[in-house]
Amino acid sequence: MASYDALRAEFEAFAAEQIAPFADEWDRNGAVPESAIRAMAEAGFLGLSIPEEFGGRGLDQRGVMLLNMAVGEACSSMRSLLTVHLALVSETIARWGTPEQKTRLLPDLASGRKIAAFALSEPLTGSDAKNVHTRYVRDGDRYRLTGRKKWTTFGQRADLFLVVADGEEGVCAFLLDRSKAGKSLLLGPLDGMLGTRASLVAEMEMSGCAVDERDVLGRRGLGFLQIVNTALDNGRFSVAAGCVGIARAALRAAAQHANTREQFGSKLRDFQLIRRRAAAIALDARTAALLCEDAAALRDGGSPKAIMRTAMAKYHASAAANRAADHAVQIHGALGCHESSPVQRYFRDARVMEIIEGSTEMQELLIGEQAIKNPDLIID
Ligand SMILES: Cc1cc2nc3c(=O)[nH]c(=O)nc-3n(C[C@H](O)[C@H](O)[C@H](O)COP(=O)(O)OP(=O)(O)OC[C@H]3O[C@@H](n4cnc5c(N)ncnc54)[C@H](O)[C@@H]3O)c2cc1C
Repeated sequence: MASYDALRAEFEAFAAEQIAPFADEWDRNGAVPESAIRAMAEAGFLGLSIPEEFGGRGLDQRGVMLLNMAVGEACSSMRSLLTVHLALVSETIARWGTPEQKTRLLPDLASGRKIAAFALSEPLTGSDAKNVHTRYVRDGDRYRLTGRKKWTTFGQRADLFLVVADGEEGVCAFLLDRSKAGKSLLLGPLDGMLGTRASLVAEMEMSGCAVDERDVLGRRGLGFLQIVNTALDNGRFSVAAGCVGIARAALRAAAQHANTREQFGSKLRDFQLIRRRAAAIALDARTAALLCEDAAALRDGGSPKAIMRTAMAKYHASAAANRAADHAVQIHGALGCHESSPVQRYFRDARVMEIIEGSTEMQELLIGEQAIKNPDLIID
């Protein structure tokens, strides 16, 4: 494996050349274009952490973190693709899939020949994610899925959906192939999002979609315990690292503006109140990065503390990205409120991060509960 410095340089160069210059345009158009998804695939990013035997690059979680930081700095919509396709679906199949599922599905996912999305949330089901209303019923040697899913990131584009549904065997996770679903699956764009506007969010309506028995992921009835928990833990890590990227982008933009804009005969950088905001962004960017590095090390070491420390990283990094983007907008003044500056995009994108992959409140409840029950999970 290349050194982490070499990986970081590779990811940052890719993001600077192939993502950052276009991110505002994608945001305005409401779509990451297919050519950009292809470029991510060709670089091997869509299978970064998938084992080499299944066509991935076989990198560890520290490598995944560096990629999410670099892509997140350039464009949160593109980072959302990494979150749903790689973290939520592909890594979860790599962890819990049968040998047959891994051999059949992972090479297409790792190469980006197929794009995956994660369909848990519904019109009536959000934070209380166990309470899904989508139902499955047995139909001979298949299952049939019926229900509605909402807010499915990259759902407009995806070929494969990890669908969470409830039924007589308890909550199960199904791998639904769009090409086989025909008219039983309706997908509609969900435009008008506040942030990550280019992430091709969809809503889905399933009316008896047929899924083969071999496309149940994980043990029947353990769809939540095994699959959803693993997927969301992976997703949280991806989002946390992406938030470090937003905070870094906010810091760079704020520094650039403070170094050039003059008022009262001085550069903005000379005003102490501006420096105070810069210091706050700097602290948030760095502490968020440190918590992500901590989580990465625990994840790579297979530590039982990894889930809690990933939740802490996500909780802090998403709030940090919001504060950082807020300061950056303030430092930019009116310019920060206009689409000619990317800081308004960072501000809108950051806001989404406290809601997805378990909201700030859900992370707080989890961390608070564990902090009281088992302080050692947090102290060392
Ligand atoms: C841009 C975007 C992309 C998304 N992509 C996906 C995706 O790809 N796949 C997918 O399945 N979902 C996706 N989601 C949905 C996301 O996972 C949910 O929005 C999230 O789980 C929160 O659910 P909710 O929006 O229904 O809020 P609700 O659960 O209704 O919560 C509303 C508010 O109440 C708070 N709250 C809820 N319960 C409690 C409690 N017990 N104590 C204190 N406060 C509480 C919440 O923190 C929140 O602030 C996406 C959402 C967005 C905005």
